[in-house]
Amino acid sequence: MREKKWKDCPACGAKDSMHYKSGITEQLKLAGYPPLEINDLDGQFCTSCEEGFWSMNSEKQISHSLARHRAECDSKTVVAAELASVKEAAATLHLSAQGIHKMMDEGRLRYVLAGGLKLPIRKDLARQAQTRQRAVHRHA
Ligand SMILES: [Zn+2]
Repeated sequence: MREKKWKDCPACGAKDSMHYKSGITEQLKLAGYPPLEINDLDGQFCTSCEEGFWSMNSEKQISHSLARHRAECDSKTVVAAELASVKEAAATLHLSAQGIHKMMDEGRLRYVLAGGLKLPIRKDLARQAQTRQRAVHRHA
């Protein structure tokens, strides 16, 4: 995949207004969770309206950090009975254990951190299993 290089702003239409910026600190808010600050992000932003796009790396970093943040918060409230093992998740979704870890890292499958392990949340696993039945398999 290649990074799209923007020149004109797709949001406000300003010409030649998109510029690369790095070292950005962003406070991210996730409903129901304390805000999370992420440093050192980059992307292309409009000098006129400040709309913009994160770079692919930053986007990855954001979803990874948010997933981890949510996992850390959830580990205080979610009980063991609500958790599945990675093995169980892999069997349910017909994926490898590696595929499950990838989904968790990308924030597509919710998990909590328990004793240093990432454990999928059973409810979210069921939801994913349903979604996957309907969805086109984009990530083969
Ligand atoms: Zn703009």
